[in-house]
Amino acid sequence: MPEAPMEQQKATDYSVAENNNKTLEFIEDVTKEADDVQKRVLAEILSRNAHVEYLKRHGLNGITDRDTFKKIMPVITYEDIQPEINRIANGDKSHILCSQPISEFLTSSGTSGGERKLMPTIDEELERRSLLYSLLMPVMSQFVPGLDKGKGMYFLFIKSESKTPGGLVARPVLTSYYKSSHFKERPYDPYTNYTSPNETILCSDSYQSMYSQMLCGLCQNNEVLRVGAVFASGFIRAIRFLENHWSLLCNDIRTGTLNALITDPSVRQAVMKILKPDPELANFIEQECSRQSWQGIITRLWPNTKYVDVIVTGTMSQYIPTLDYYSNGIPLVCTMYASSECYFGVNLNPLCKPSEVSYTLIPTMAYFEFLPVHKNNGTTNSVPIPKSLNEKEQRELVDLVDVKLGQDYELVVTTYAGLYRYRVGDVLRVAGFKNSAPQFNFICRKNVVLSIDSDKTDEVELQNAVKKAVSHLIPFDAHLIEYTSYADTTKIPGHYVLYWELSVNGSTPVPPSVYEDCCLTIEESLNSVYRQGRVSDKSIGALEIKIVESRTFDKLMDYAISLGASINQYKTPRCVKFAPIVELLNSRVVSCYFSPKYPKWTPGHKQWINSD
Ligand code: AMP
Repeated sequence: MPEAPMEQQKATDYSVAENNNKTLEFIEDVTKEADDVQKRVLAEILSRNAHVEYLKRHGLNGITDRDTFKKIMPVITYEDIQPEINRIANGDKSHILCSQPISEFLTSSGTSGGERKLMPTIDEELERRSLLYSLLMPVMSQFVPGLDKGKGMYFLFIKSESKTPGGLVARPVLTSYYKSSHFKERPYDPYTNYTSPNETILCSDSYQSMYSQMLCGLCQNNEVLRVGAVFASGFIRAIRFLENHWSLLCNDIRTGTLNALITDPSVRQAVMKILKPDPELANFIEQECSRQSWQGIITRLWPNTKYVDVIVTGTMSQYIPTLDYYSNGIPLVCTMYASSECYFGVNLNPLCKPSEVSYTLIPTMAYFEFLPVHKNNGTTNSVPIPKSLNEKEQRELVDLVDVKLGQDYELVVTTYAGLYRYRVGDVLRVAGFKNSAPQFNFICRKNVVLSIDSDKTDEVELQNAVKKAVSHLIPFDAHLIEYTSYADTTKIPGHYVLYWELSVNGSTPVPPSVYEDCCLTIEESLNSVYRQGRVSDKSIGALEIKIVESRTFDKLMDYAISLGASINQYKTPRCVKFAPIVELLNSRVVSCYFSPKYPKWTPGHKQWINSD
């Protein structure tokens, strides 16, 4: 198997260039030998785990060849292994899925039964994740030279963690990574030289973390060559934070003293190493921030910025216009595609347009298979995934090197940490090839209708939540005739909007407080990732119900039919995105109501008693 590039130890120009070349060679090698690498990865996973309960139960009996594996092992979803996951969470340490000890659970933003999915992981997966990160800058440097001569201003955050009843930590994958020695004790590397000291990233208070990261970013403004966050939503939240706090931040910079609201001693200490009285810089920031227009604020405050590094593929594409506005059109760069289950791949052409981004799956990360997704009228099917695949469908899965250009597939992974033929839920389209490794456009996550940040709400969840909420209307003899939804990101934080058309037969009008109760009931019914975004991260605003005039949904249908929809097959969309449709709905709004308070949310699964 091609040797992975070593992490670099020294920062001389020579070693940077040498390391970059080694990394690019690695990518060249693994993509050339993609099929061989995949075969070996599968054999390695299966031979190491030959004796685990799950593989034995399915009768694999230590066999490691691809054909037998594909014949015997079922293609599964999370629900299929939930019993095994629950056993591990409850403290069963026997080799259920993996021969190596499960080190922790990664809590995915995908949910099952309203709770985050728990992905088992093992220590060595951290190395695989680090490897994928180490590919990013050598790739980028081919297109933007000199990035080793300055810093990256990245807004990175940890989220709360909890413990399973069996004592395993459960937390999001990035929290796990930032808290690991791979991140905290990384050797000096010009490519991981960030304006945010580790202490500010590792601070669990999101206000203090954001404030101190922004302050450090401003203090080092001329050194910053690239800016970013993981997702576009997070980066825009940081800019919004600046809009609300620049005056306090300038005060700190002018006087060289840190605002008393920052109480975490390690954060204070780390920031004070960077913060020096600089009235000139404070005046400059004040002048730029008090201008009426914030267009181009990024390149104005951080004048050497070459690009914005954020994911804008998938649902995040809704933020592209806002990012373009703030950044004056400098490139928006999507570097990688990853999940809690596994880190998948990198974008080898990072300066391409956001609409053209494709990710090359790195064949050493896991064993990948692809389930063809059949398109309806040129659009990817959005019907719910059937619970399990029949035998014929199982045979349709193809290997990494056998996917066809232009075809859509659902990604299926077999990982070192004990997922076997697991459906990730993402739909990808083959956009090209790097040697024999395919490059994929991210098309969508199956079934997701609404998303603001990392929340992913599907149609069924939305339907159930609405069903619960409308019971508040019964005493008023009011009934929901039709509804749809919209992820409104015109303001930060964005929020969910539901458009409701009602028939009101009772003589007493529905009081506003009842509609507000409906809003809250919907929020309470949505999954824990949504509620965490609302309550803890504050990345999602209060849910809104907009009551529309009668016959609005007839008008919506007329409009869809005028655009070519078939009258027989027309179904009210449960989510709208197309601007003219949103405008049509908004033009018929008679009243709006917001959720009056936060829904309930606590870290951990609702069935656990938190032990910390
Ligand atoms: P999580 O397991 O919570 O980290 O979420 C992983 C999911 O986020 C993936 O399965 C995708 O649906 C989505 N995701 C991750 N990276 C990207 C990307 N580069 N573009 C679009 N969606 C992404």
